[in-house]
Amino acid sequence: MAEQLDPDCVFCKIVAGAIPATVVRETERTLAFRDISPQAPTHVLVIPKAHFPNAATLAAAEPELAAALLTEAAGVAADEKIADHGYRLIFNTGAGAGQTVFHAHVHVLGGASFHEGMV
Ligand code: 5GP
Repeated sequence: MAEQLDPDCVFCKIVAGAIPATVVRETERTLAFRDISPQAPTHVLVIPKAHFPNAATLAAAEPELAAALLTEAAGVAADEKIADHGYRLIFNTGAGAGQTVFHAHVHVLGGASFHEGMV
């Protein structure tokens, strides 16, 4: 099935191969690649290949694809050997929460301790 892309979206450009990324996992409908500005020793983004502005719109339209992001995030944690210690998943949803790329994604952060709380 052809996935819809937004020509102005940086993550759609990564899906299309128009800008490079370090891909660590891929399925038919998802892509996982290293964040360009890592905030932890492991910092991977898992995205749907199709364009949805955020996790909420993705979950409303395609709940199975939203769930697939969690499955892939767990796969990243296993691949990166961060699962035993523990890792953090973050879905920034909306500019007020710090979302800067308006294509649904989950941050997988690990390899460090996150004891400082939620904000
Ligand atoms: P947000 O703030 O929207 O939750 O997260 C967007 C993330 O995308 C940021 O952590 C940022 O570093 C990352 N990012 C932005 N542009 C690029 C890019 O061109 N390539 C990669 N690999 N990551 C990017």
